Amino acid sequence: MKIAINGCGIGGPTLAWWLRRYGHEPVLLEKSPCLRKGGHVIDFWGTGYEIAQKMGLFPHLLDDAYIMERMRSVTASGRTTSSLDVRRFQELTQGRYLSIARSDLSRHIYQACEGMETRFGTSIVGIKDEGDKVHVQLSDDSQEDFDLVVGADGLHSKVRALTFGPQSDFEHHTGFYVAAFDLQGYQPRDELTYVSHTVPGRQISRVALRDDHTLILLVFSKRFVSREPENEAAQKSLLRQVYDDMGWETGAILARMDHAENFYFDRVSQIRMPEWTKGRVALLGDAAACASLLAGEGTGLAMTEAYILAGELQRAAGDHRIAFPAYQARLQDYLVRRQDQALKFAGFFAPKNWFSLFVRDVMTNAASIAFLSKLLLGSSFSTDFELPAYHDESSELHPEMKST
Ligand SMILES: Cc1cc2nc3c(=O)[nH]c(=O)nc-3n(C[C@H](O)[C@H](O)[C@H](O)COP(=O)(O)OP(=O)(O)OC[C@H]3O[C@@H](n4cnc5c(N)ncnc54)[C@H](O)[C@@H]3O)c2cc1C
Repeated sequence: MKIAINGCGIGGPTLAWWLRRYGHEPVLLEKSPCLRKGGHVIDFWGTGYEIAQKMGLFPHLLDDAYIMERMRSVTASGRTTSSLDVRRFQELTQGRYLSIARSDLSRHIYQACEGMETRFGTSIVGIKDEGDKVHVQLSDDSQEDFDLVVGADGLHSKVRALTFGPQSDFEHHTGFYVAAFDLQGYQPRDELTYVSHTVPGRQISRVALRDDHTLILLVFSKRFVSREPENEAAQKSLLRQVYDDMGWETGAILARMDHAENFYFDRVSQIRMPEWTKGRVALLGDAAACASLLAGEGTGLAMTEAYILAGELQRAAGDHRIAFPAYQARLQDYLVRRQDQALKFAGFFAPKNWFSLFVRDVMTNAASIAFLSKLLLGSSFSTDFELPAYHDESSELHPEMKST
């Protein structure tokens, strides 16, 4: 089948990889002129980790991955108030946990799709499901027919808007905004350590990466936002305003923001939809069921959805009328649980008041103690979802996977 995938972030190329493996002809369409960079470091474990192994990504992924050691929270004057030994996460996941820049993960998945048809700078602008095929209008004014169309185009999905209705019907704002950018040559550096400074409703953090890069992440409450900024200049100006009196290194970091690479800014929202598919059109990843950065595993969830969607199509011999409902039935409860859990985690990023911040620091310190870490963090890392096997893995292992 010829399948259009709108969006080449994380879920899109993962789906394309599996569809090609099952003998289909995926076509990746990406609005940006090239693979998008930017975003923060992501923690990678659970089913996403397992799928990356199945895809044979590991030897390459490990070149860019980090095994982080510590998470440190500091006051305005730089004094440490809490510290967490994040090697505990390794124990909680039996060593199947790593950290990697979002852009590096996206690049590795895409590189595994080598030779696949990808049209950068092109996106779907019109969809007409004609029953036996989908007639698609593209941004380059061309028109084309596909057997299926998949929206893997993120939180602000165009495929969702064209097929299911406006974003406002499905978006649940968590009450936070996020910004991320990359500084070259920033000092100080604390290797393998997340360093953050939090006051009620606002957090700023930095993590030092290879080649003298430092990734900055800012998460703040919407109570500081009277009107949502519409462009990058307005977003940066809002950040300066919101973080004006934060102390610590905030002034130095924001002074360099204009020269930062790969600026990212968005609402922290969840997408909750009763149906992820309609006729021959399906949604995937953030487009279908964004759990937000509060879940800490948006990339892994998008990869899981991609794996299941491709697998159910394979199992149903390409019949989307069987595969699409099966895809949603397998995943929906699990994703709703992840979304609900994510909302409980909001206080970790930006606690509402000083008391909540104090409690967070006490809990963080406690989580460094072995038996308490399991008690406090165990549920965040429990994998209550088992990946189905859609093919005989023992005989069909990707050659590179055998070495992991
Ligand atoms: C540049 C960038 C930085 C990010 N940084 C962070 C971060 O710091 N923290 C965090 O929690 N989450 C971040 N995210 C979101 C995170 O990547 C997703 O939650 C997760 O990876 C789910 O993957 P996805 O494939 O569903 O969506 P995404 O990874 O968001 O990928 C969607 C892709 O679709 C493309 N696209 C969008 N609209 C269209 C269109 N109309 N037509 C064609 N293509 C389209 C986008 O350019 C993107 O490549 C970021 C996303 C991007 C794109």
